[in-house]
Amino acid sequence: MFDGDRLIRVMPDALANKIAAGEVVQRPASALKELVENSLDAGAERVDVLLKGAGSTLVQVVDDGVGMSRSDAAEAFRRHATSKLYTLEDLDALGTLGFRGEALASIAAVAQVELRTRRATDEAGTRVVADGGLARDAEPVGAPVGTSLAVRNLFFNVPARRAFLKTPATEYRHLLETFQALTLSHPGVSFTLRHDEDEVYRLMANPDDDDDAALARRIADLFGHDLHDALVPVAETTTYLRIRGFVGRPERHKRSRGEQFLFVNRRVVKSRPLDHAVASAFERLIPEGTHPFFALFLEMDPAHVDVNVHPSKAEVKFDDERGVYALVRAVVRKALAHADFVPELPPDPLAATFGAAPAGHTSDAFGTAAMFGPAPTPDALLPQLDASFEGRIVHLPEPDPTVLEEEMMLPLVDANANAAHDAKGVGPEAVLFQLHDTYIVTPIRSGLLVLDQRAAHERILYEKARATLESGFGLSQQLLFPHTFEPAAPDLALLKELQGDLVALGFVVEFFSGRTVVVRGVPADVRAGDERSILEDLIEQFRTLRERLRLPHRDTLARAIARRSAIRHGQRLAQPEMRLLIDQLFACEAPMAAPDGRPTLVRLSTDELAKRFA
Ligand code: ADP
Ligand code: MG
Repeated sequence: MFDGDRLIRVMPDALANKIAAGEVVQRPASALKELVENSLDAGAERVDVLLKGAGSTLVQVVDDGVGMSRSDAAEAFRRHATSKLYTLEDLDALGTLGFRGEALASIAAVAQVELRTRRATDEAGTRVVADGGLARDAEPVGAPVGTSLAVRNLFFNVPARRAFLKTPATEYRHLLETFQALTLSHPGVSFTLRHDEDEVYRLMANPDDDDDAALARRIADLFGHDLHDALVPVAETTTYLRIRGFVGRPERHKRSRGEQFLFVNRRVVKSRPLDHAVASAFERLIPEGTHPFFALFLEMDPAHVDVNVHPSKAEVKFDDERGVYALVRAVVRKALAHADFVPELPPDPLAATFGAAPAGHTSDAFGTAAMFGPAPTPDALLPQLDASFEGRIVHLPEPDPTVLEEEMMLPLVDANANAAHDAKGVGPEAVLFQLHDTYIVTPIRSGLLVLDQRAAHERILYEKARATLESGFGLSQQLLFPHTFEPAAPDLALLKELQGDLVALGFVVEFFSGRTVVVRGVPADVRAGDERSILEDLIEQFRTLRERLRLPHRDTLARAIARRSAIRHGQRLAQPEMRLLIDQLFACEAPMAAPDGRPTLVRLSTDELAKRFA
């Protein structure tokens, strides 16, 4: 396409201005993305990534691509130096991943960069060192064909930016997600990833780059064969766009969004509307607050898509956003409907989808809000409750058994109900009724008390976990058969980070070479049958919460435990269990709300009832 020794030219000003300048490198993962994209643009068949210190010490990418001439190597670090885009027209017909000629210049401005490169036709290679933006002269050096770019001590000369980096575990997770996305976009290229002393991934090239089978194999190599077996193919071609790729079966949902990949013309992109389009196709198939796996490739005329909204090129805009949204949603729905686990999906009113409020949030699946009115805030409730919950269970006026079938479901109050009982809990005679396996209803002096069993249990578990973490002495139960698993690399990093607190909670965990983790013991109070997956789920939950909340580790961990292990809605409880739940709830420091603020209970007063019957 281009020849001679000088492929790199400085962009005309008009073009440079059209492409608004901005920050390319926000974190180690952005440097990784730029470097690997350059390797892919250079036609590499093999890309090796080396990371140290979660990328803040070293991000190095070595490829076997075309390499650079000596003059190009020296030029590559200048801003707007690119071999890929010379005219404004080119911007609309972009075939390469890079085009701004900004990445190397930006990276070199904030790190210590070393470039080694050689073209197949050149005798000797070239080495260029750039330190905080000042590229020193290119010098000859022995080098294999291809390019190696090492980025050391990112932000070493911008302390504010360096301080802004998140914990190593978080930066590492971003690096991994970036790596995963890039490798998914090119299943025909082989990749390796090393972090410090660990080889994290060794991904073989899959021939037929463009083929779904190649993509599926890459997914299996990255995320395991479980996921491979749970892939649902997605394929549709319209005049505007072609969609292909996979979504995970609903049961393969996760609590974090880490495994969602979107590509437009093979470029890794982010699009909140399209994430939402996929999520809404999964509506009612997966629990609220969980996320499906997807790796979807959109192909369309580059004229319809603007990849230049953001300097890091991660965000896209379509000229017909609504159309793309509706199409993605419909196509994913169709794919799911064709898979065998969904006998029937309601028809999708396509036209009205975009802009509609994000999926109805159905915590009120049983219509209880309509029945009881909006829940009072815990604060408003507290004084009333203290007065009414002094421990006396009193008779409600006896309902006429013939009035309503509905009423018949409520057990009549035991005639001896005023016998002794715990001052704060409910007495042994209290009538407890589980409504739809979700709420516990009990009469109190001033009316009815309704507990959300899940919210209540979350509060209890949360306070218990906090206490255990503070004391550091969680009782442990030894597992008869140690549970071995191989967490995804970001989870492994997190497990190591949290090891101390996990031990405090009662986990006995050992790390083996590679990614093998062996769980030999779990906290003593883990429910039977739950021992095997608890740690895995816990870590995932922790990761999700941490992203949302930014609380101290221990608090996040306690919340994660509560969410992971609390009784679910839909779980049938025996009388003693309900009683215990209520007793423990009222023994809590803050019984009125779950750790995230959802109320644990609401009260329906007899006054209120009387009003409704007036
Ligand atoms: P862009 O990718 O937007 O062109 P970069 O700053 O990322 O800008 O790179 C500048 C130029 O350096 C590229 O256009 C390319 O010519 C050259 N280059 C960078 N990395 C490589 C590589 N791994 N192999 C070959 N050439 C490269
Ligand atoms: Mg580039």
